[in-house]
Amino acid sequence: MSIAGNLQKIKQELPGQVSLVAVSKTKPVEAIQEAYEAGQRIFGENKIQEMTEKWEALPKDIQWHMIGHVQRNKVKYMAPYVSLIHGVDSFKLLKEIDKQAHKNERVIDCLLQLKIAEEDSKFGMGIDALKKMLLSAEFQQLTHIRIKGFMGMATLTSDDSQIAKEFKELKTYFDTFSGELSTMEILSMGMSADYKIAIDQGSTMVRIGSAIFGERNYAK
Ligand SMILES: *Cc1c(COP(=O)(O)O)cnc(C)c1O
Repeated sequence: MSIAGNLQKIKQELPGQVSLVAVSKTKPVEAIQEAYEAGQRIFGENKIQEMTEKWEALPKDIQWHMIGHVQRNKVKYMAPYVSLIHGVDSFKLLKEIDKQAHKNERVIDCLLQLKIAEEDSKFGMGIDALKKMLLSAEFQQLTHIRIKGFMGMATLTSDDSQIAKEFKELKTYFDTFSGELSTMEILSMGMSADYKIAIDQGSTMVRIGSAIFGERNYAK
């Protein structure tokens, strides 16, 4: 099926309150343009340089989401235009985003990536670190970031009940911390393989790549 066809099919399955990030990492500008023409406006990338090149080449009403692990020394390159950073997994990174947002005279929306998967390899903040950060005076002084919600990735497994359990845990944290942070509204969870489970567990934003653009070819 075509990119437009895939997009249409997925959109029909998403409840009204769930927004779709089309994950275009490794895909060419032409593929993004095709999705754009089919009405898609939110795209997700995981490398700052690649995202910046695409931002320069494509229409300016696209909202660019950084969904990957972010190196602090590269935040400055996306600070002028990034619309939402999903993978904020440390206080240090959040402070750097605040600093770069300030330089650009803007406020940058962020999601905190929480660790929910069993696997050690997944990035994310632990709950203790999160609580400590929220209580610190330093955090209160960050006026150029807005914590819009949480992001999480489930364990890569064929066991749907395990995935559901991890997403449910994230949703519980989301509900708890929403009471303390008034800006919280986004729960980013679910990718091509598990977005239906994520939606059942309360996701409000799914990040879908291969089901829209086809498999990625890293060898190229
Ligand atoms: C690549 C990626 C996705 C999309 O993965 P698909 O399986 O292609 O849908 C979603 N979230 C993150 C953080 C990613 O790196």
